[in-house]
Amino acid sequence: MATINEHYLKLQSGYLFPEIARRVTNYCQSHPDAKVIKMGIGDVTRPLPRAIIDAMHAAVEEMSTSHSFRGYGPEQGYPFLRDAIRDNCYRERNIDIESDEIFISDGSKCDSGNLLDVFGTDNTIAVLDPVYPVYVDTNVMVGRTGDAGANGQYEGLVYLPVNAENNFQPALPNGRVDLIYLCYPNNPTGTVATREMLKTWVDYAHKNQSIIFFDAAYEAFVSDPEIPRSIYEVEGAKEVAIELRSFSKNAGFTGVRCAFTVIPKQLMGHTSDGSPQAIHPLWNRRHCTKFNGVSYPVQRGAAASFSPEGRQQIAELITFYMNNARLLREGLKAAGIEVYGGVNAPYVWLKTPDDLSSWDFFDLLLNESQIVGTPGSGFGASGEGYFRLSAFNSLENTEEAIHRIKSRLADSP
Ligand SMILES: *Cc1c(COP(=O)(O)O)cnc(C)c1O
Repeated sequence: MATINEHYLKLQSGYLFPEIARRVTNYCQSHPDAKVIKMGIGDVTRPLPRAIIDAMHAAVEEMSTSHSFRGYGPEQGYPFLRDAIRDNCYRERNIDIESDEIFISDGSKCDSGNLLDVFGTDNTIAVLDPVYPVYVDTNVMVGRTGDAGANGQYEGLVYLPVNAENNFQPALPNGRVDLIYLCYPNNPTGTVATREMLKTWVDYAHKNQSIIFFDAAYEAFVSDPEIPRSIYEVEGAKEVAIELRSFSKNAGFTGVRCAFTVIPKQLMGHTSDGSPQAIHPLWNRRHCTKFNGVSYPVQRGAAASFSPEGRQQIAELITFYMNNARLLREGLKAAGIEVYGGVNAPYVWLKTPDDLSSWDFFDLLLNESQIVGTPGSGFGASGEGYFRLSAFNSLENTEEAIHRIKSRLADSP
């Protein structure tokens, strides 16, 4: 008899995006001429930069002759890419990260789940609320939680609420937690962490021998020079933090797949008898055993994002999306709506007007303005009463959405 991993049965059915799709389909069936604008899902919309396309073409050509063909590459990634990341993401910002502390992968989503392989199941986990659902579900899958309660929160996880009242700054946990997920710039709230705030977390982690998983998938959207783009800009972070980064949102690699995780060699976990054990060799072992590397043309494409042309073209992409974010912020404000985020992140997080629930506002926006966003409650209990709009769209759609919000939503009751 083949038994199953029963922890999977604790997972609440992926409710959010299917429910959005169901409501949109219903609306479109009863309003076949409606021009619905989708500002819900966090996926990029612009094509890949030319410098990246050219590098991938050239790499594919290399695969066509026997003298330049490449088979399996190093599981951890090619040195040309690991060195480029070390130089451009870290050395340039005076952060001392070595190439062999950088592990190339096919995505930050997979990395954030896979990391749990090298940690004990008895760790206490803290997440922000609202939260990127992957952090929670992957912990449920490996059995680190109990069942979900009525509000959707799992027993055994420590939820740290972030909302307008605490200025989206999570309070430190009351007691000790072992693993902490931080995502900055944040998905879904679009807010950022100051250096002081990250320092508080790094100090907490030192004091409690905790480890921080720092998801920096949106670092390229930070424009404020005072806001750290890497947790390693904070002193002492290398002893307590793993950083996850991705080419998905900056270089448009959501369909190409390339990311990386940084595991500093001095980062220590502990065995059950309390002896320190470096995480780096464990992760290296895991990566080499369960993963065979990212494809060569994709790694060449990722490396091209650091060439002068690549950097220029990526900067243009970011400027494009952040102009949409600015238009959204300004338009929503002009319609009398409270908005957060959208300055150093491609997401705008708004407080629903008239204390509407997240889903009631979803229906209002769909019915009155034919705009689809994401109900904040779908990201956690503390997201209730909030709503996410994404700047990943065309300029035309963004302008049209703002026009509709201003003209229709502003005068609705
Ligand atoms: C989009 C996103 C990522 C990137 O995931 P990939 O698997 O690299 O595409 C990581 N974390 C968050 C919070 C995201 O929104």
